Amino acid sequence: MRYPLGAALLLSVAACAGPRPLAKRVIIVTLDTTRVDYISAYGSTRVSTPNIDGLARRGALFEKATTVAPLTLTAHSSLFTGLLPPHHGVRDNAADPLAADHATLAEILQRRGFHTGAFAASAVLQASRGLSRGFDVYRDGVSDSWSRRFRRPGGEVVAEALQWVSQQGDEPFLLWMHLYDAHAPCDPPEPYRSLYKEDPYAAAVAYADAQVGALLDDLERRRLLDQAVVVIAADHGESFGEHGEEGHGLQLYEDVVRVPLIISAHGLQPRRVTAVASLVDVMPTVLDLVGAGTPKIDGTSLMPALKGRPIATDRAAYSESLYPAHFGGAPLRAVRDDRFKLIDAPQPELYDLERDPGEVRNLASERPAVLAGMSQRLGPLTESPAIALPTPRAVSAELRERLAALGYVSGTVRK
Ligand SMILES: [Zn+2]
Repeated sequence: MRYPLGAALLLSVAACAGPRPLAKRVIIVTLDTTRVDYISAYGSTRVSTPNIDGLARRGALFEKATTVAPLTLTAHSSLFTGLLPPHHGVRDNAADPLAADHATLAEILQRRGFHTGAFAASAVLQASRGLSRGFDVYRDGVSDSWSRRFRRPGGEVVAEALQWVSQQGDEPFLLWMHLYDAHAPCDPPEPYRSLYKEDPYAAAVAYADAQVGALLDDLERRRLLDQAVVVIAADHGESFGEHGEEGHGLQLYEDVVRVPLIISAHGLQPRRVTAVASLVDVMPTVLDLVGAGTPKIDGTSLMPALKGRPIATDRAAYSESLYPAHFGGAPLRAVRDDRFKLIDAPQPELYDLERDPGEVRNLASERPAVLAGMSQRLGPLTESPAIALPTPRAVSAELRERLAALGYVSGTVRK
């Protein structure tokens, strides 16, 4: 198209004013097993997390962010591929490694000339599980350790990450740091242990926050946070018996599926975002911020939200737990929109998260129209061949009883 001279001048002036420079550095910190209500930026009074709060003051805090599954490997696979579990196939921690035909954020950035380093803290994420693809350096502290540990403390992960950062000079890089300290059994060091004597989980979150601070302070000192995107997210939360579960992996209540998600990028104003977001949105958002375009995936870029523009109000976030199906229980799937949440259990559960954030009042029979609408949203993700359910294993009477008590034994595994 040809423009008249005046329009061409206007266009060139706009070009000189320039779009934001693209991000040169991407820093992703995943906090394992971290509940939103243990982060002070999200209003927690149980624990102080000044470093995460500091990032939230410079970035966008997502109020309604949801994980795809309450399982470490599944959630991280979605975060790094932008795909939902039915599409990337890593349905639980014991699944086959992530298939090589699903492009990862690390692969895409590596091809664009980013140096890529990953520093993980748990055997669940060890290199052989498939997330190491695209990383020049992938340290899990497990597979390369003579001591055959299954986890390591955040301080060790940060030290390794910073050592790697110190070698990157002015090159663009992707750094992923994973902290496992809040995963049971929590064993935080002093002074956190004494500061939160009554609550080892709070102590562990406070310790993890201090590690985030150590990382960000060092990056700041090196002036590496200019032109950087920083993402902090949890892979899932943790249940403290609210609905009968201790831990995570089985249920899909908000204690485990709602996650902290904070994204800060240079040149963007801080804000709180109330639109629904999912871990699958992280990859396309980062690709948008580095100017890498967006592959065809399940997630969508949150860039409009980062800029304070409205994003579609009909957004919905999917999550699943097929873990019970291993033991003859029913697979669980859930979808939440701006207000309602459906858990597709043997007895469907519908909650109004706005009025009932604790999910105690099942509205399934009272609100049939909402139930039908939410079921429809879930539909495409529950149909085969996308779903290959695990073969039920022999299961102890005790576990079966526990699943039954949670309402998860359907008698047969649905196909
Ligand atoms: Zn986890």
